[in-house]
Formats: sequence, C-alpha cells, structure tokens
Amino acid sequence: MPPSAPSAGWTDGRGDAVLVERLRAIVGEGGVVADPAGLQAYRGDSVHRAEGGILCVARPAGTEQVADVVRACRAAAVPIVPRGGGTGFAGGSLPMPGQSVVMVSLERMRRIRSLDPVGDVIVVDAGCVLHEVRQAAAAAGRVLGLDHGGAGSSSIGGNVATNAGGNNVVRYGMARDQVLGIEAVLADGSVRGPPAGLRKSNAGYDLRHLLTGSEGTLALITAVALKLRPAPVACVTAMLGVASPQQAVELFALARTYFGDAISAFELMSRPALEFHFAHVGARREPLADPTPWLALLECESTSRFMDLDAAIQGLFEQALADGLVSTGSVATSLAQRRSMWALREGIAVAMGAASYHIVKTDTAVPTGSVAEFIRRADLDVERALPGSRTVAFGHVGDGNIHLNILPPAGMPDQQFRTRSQELAAAIDEIALSLGGTVSAEHGIGQAKRQALRRMLPAPEMALMRAIKRAFDPDGVFNPGKMIADD
Ligand SMILES: Cc1cc2nc3c(=O)[nH]c(=O)nc-3n(C[C@H](O)[C@H](O)[C@H](O)COP(=O)(O)OP(=O)(O)OC[C@H]3O[C@@H](n4cnc5c(N)ncnc54)[C@H](O)[C@@H]3O)c2cc1C
Repeated sequence: MPPSAPSAGWTDGRGDAVLVERLRAIVGEGGVVADPAGLQAYRGDSVHRAEGGILCVARPAGTEQVADVVRACRAAAVPIVPRGGGTGFAGGSLPMPGQSVVMVSLERMRRIRSLDPVGDVIVVDAGCVLHEVRQAAAAAGRVLGLDHGGAGSSSIGGNVATNAGGNNVVRYGMARDQVLGIEAVLADGSVRGPPAGLRKSNAGYDLRHLLTGSEGTLALITAVALKLRPAPVACVTAMLGVASPQQAVELFALARTYFGDAISAFELMSRPALEFHFAHVGARREPLADPTPWLALLECESTSRFMDLDAAIQGLFEQALADGLVSTGSVATSLAQRRSMWALREGIAVAMGAASYHIVKTDTAVPTGSVAEFIRRADLDVERALPGSRTVAFGHVGDGNIHLNILPPAGMPDQQFRTRSQELAAAIDEIALSLGGTVSAEHGIGQAKRQALRRMLPAPEMALMRAIKRAFDPDGVFNPGKMIADD
C-alpha cells in the first residue's frame, strides 16, 4: 500500500478503549469485533492485505445505530473505513498504513425493505449481498441490471460506493444506472434519506450521483432504492472463436445489427488468460472443439417472446463466418452449458485474483473501437519494458474495458518483479489515456490507483474533488487518504 498522511486525528490507547466501549454501548456486545482472531476476516480485500490499524469493527443493526457510530468516531477524531463484503480490488475498504481506524461493516443490515412491482423499484439495506437482491428481484419476475463475479459476497453498499460494473453493463449500464435513491449517514451523523424511488426528480444537484462511486469518502450509504426491469423470457449464450481482438470488435458491431439492445454481455478472453485459468483449477476444459487464440462470449436476452433469438444467433453466426470474423463457435443448448461457458469467464477473474500478489493487474477502458489498438500497443510496450513478461487480456470488450494483466518473465523472483509493477501498470494506463480512455473502468481508485488518478485528471478537476470532499466531510472522518488524498 502507498504511504499516506491521514487527515483525521489520533487517540491514545486509553481514548481508544473508551471509544470501543462507547461503540459497544451503541451496537451491542455482539456488534463489535475487536479480538485479533475476529479482525483477521476484515484485514483484506480481493487483492490487498492490511496489517494492523483496525481498532475494532462496528457492526450496526440499523441506520440510527450507524449515525450514532459516526458521531462517536467523529467526536473521538478516529477515522471510519466503511466496509462492505471486502471484495473490492483497490484497497478502499482497508486502513492506510499508519492509520488506526474503526471499520463500519453493514453486514447486519440485510433487509429487503420493499419491492414495488408497479414502479419496478426495490429498496434494500446497504448490507444486502448483491446475489440476494438479484434473487429477490427474480422472485418477483424482475431483474436487477447489475451482476459480476463478486455477486455472491459483495454488498449493495459496496457496489454503489464503487459504482461497480460487471458483465451486463453493455445492456443495463453500471451500478449508477440502477440507483434511484440513496439513504446515507453524513459526517455530522445526520441521515440523508429515506431513499427516493422516483424515476424523475430535478430538485437541485443530484447527490445520489455524487455518493455513487464515492468509495466511502463522502458518507456511509445505509440503504439504496434500485431500478428493476422486466425479467428476460428468452436468452441465448454463445462462445465464438476469433483470431484477434480486432475481429472481436468487428463481431461486436455486427452482433449489434442482429440483436440491437438485446446484447447483455460481450466478453473477450485471450488464450493466455484461458491457460492461466486451466493451470489454476488444474484441469483443461476447452470450450470449442478447435481451440482459437481468442474467445468471445456473447449473451443476448429478450423480454419479449416475439423476438426470435435463435434465428438471430444463427444469422449472426452465418454472416460472421462469411465475413471471416469467426472460425468456430458453439451455442448453449441447456442451462448447464450456459453456466459452464460463464464458469470459464469467471474462472479467469478468480485465477487472476488468487495470483494478485505475483502479477500486475490493470482496469483500464478505452473507446470500444480502440480495444484492438490498445491491446496491440500494450503487448509491444510491455515486452519492450520487461522482455519475457507476458500480457493476459480478458474483460468486458463490449464496454471497452479490458483487464490487461502482466505476468512476470519465467523464473523472475516475485520481489524483483514487484519492483517493476508500478512502472508497468503506469505504461498500460498511459496507452489507455492516449486513446481517450481511463485508468479505472470499474474497480475504483481506493488506495491503489491514487497516483494514476492524479496522472489522468487535470489539477483543477482534482481541486474540485477535494472541495467536494471538504464540503461533505470537513474533519476527514470517512476513509481519509483514499482516492483524492492531499499529498
Ligand atoms: C471474482 C470477483 C469478480 C469481480 N468482478 C467484478 C466486475 O466484473 N466488476 C466490478 O465492478 N467489480 C468486480 N469485482 C469487485 C467487487 O466485487 C466490487 O468492487 C464490489 O462493488 C465491492 O463491493 P464490496 O461490498 O465487497 O465492497 P468493499 O470491497 O467492502 O468496499 C469497496 C469500497 O466501497 C466502500 N464501501 C463499502 N460499503 C460502503 C457503504 N455502505 N457506504 C459507503 N462506502 C462503502 C469501501 O470503503 C471501499 O472504498 C469482483 C470481485 C471478485 C471477487
């Protein structure tokens, strides 16, 4: 983790003990975790590990308790780190080096507050797990347009706080596009809410959009009103073998003409990414009879039984073959086949997550039409910077979001490779920026990407962000040092 100067104050050991007792009085004996063994579960996210720095984890059972916890921490000048499922990739839910924080986890706040099938709105506690909310929507014949590999353990609060993306952005947009209203506890302990479920409201600045993607730096999100959509009645999933990223991008454009907005996912996997997954699980399961250098995973869904998805996929496949865009492919004919296609894609993310310490991970996005150029230049620059290292590309090509990770040259010790990691990640970021892209497509900034954000944004924009932070959180109670530190 990069060093930082925390902006909130510090208590001595006696003050710490008083604060922990005060928090116990607010959330109850079982609501505080302070023993070293119990704290272990909160010391990591999907990539990083933080040693020390957690006074205790406060686990409030309701919004009023959250407000009391915030007031107590602010009075004691102890920073708060909001914590969801701890599945993030940017170190946002972990204390910074040198800090001593209270972590506030909403894991006890998991109520589905309401589901309105007429307005298509679900209101949920921020501690609900994404998968639970998707299930609640499905039980009502609706779908929540947010899904990704971390759905089983990430919280709605975390997803909104990071403006999570995932597999279905191409059809439904990011987390932001699902959010209708937010209830949140502000730095002075006041509660903003309850979350409005309105489809329309032009009443001043839209703070919901400021809080979405704020990564716990502005307020603690306690509940969210989310947009629901009609559940699809038909779905088609296909794995298509392509020779290059350029062919994949052209295939995506062609698929648009056959399916329009019905495309719900268009993912790309490189051969090295597949091999990495096979090695991780210790088994080789080729999805197509003839292995190809790249695979595109296409999924389309329709909410109308009158749309003929089977005819559309057949037409697309024939045209793509004729145009030389695909060489082979397979359409799932059962739920099991569909799941096994997705298991391959998600398995790559899991394998990369497990190897995080040994590799360089990036999360850039470029305009979709520039994806092939981005991958081509990244391959060249990485090989030039560190001969023998290998790039592994996969991701949401329909959104221009390629996770381009870098593996060390064979035999290079971890320590040696890690001394080069920032330089390599910065090289990838630079290529994305030169193509009009971003250094963080969906994982956020947290601790890990602060320098990258500074390289990307002009100084006046960074200054505006700091002014917003000061307006919301003048004492730096929430996640100090994250995202837009003053350093
Ligand atoms: C296998 C796998 C695949 C993944 N795939 C994707 C993907 O495709 N797309 C994607 O976007 N992400 C993906 N993720 C990453 C992760 O699931 C998301 O970033 C998710 O949104 C984090 O949610 P969380 O509850 O775990 O938050 P945490 O990791 O606990 O926290 C993340 C940030 O949000 C803040 N925060 C958490 N809760 C609150 C709250 N209630 N109020 C205010 N701030 C809060 C934290 O302080 C921190 O800054 C994946 C993760 C895994 C493990």
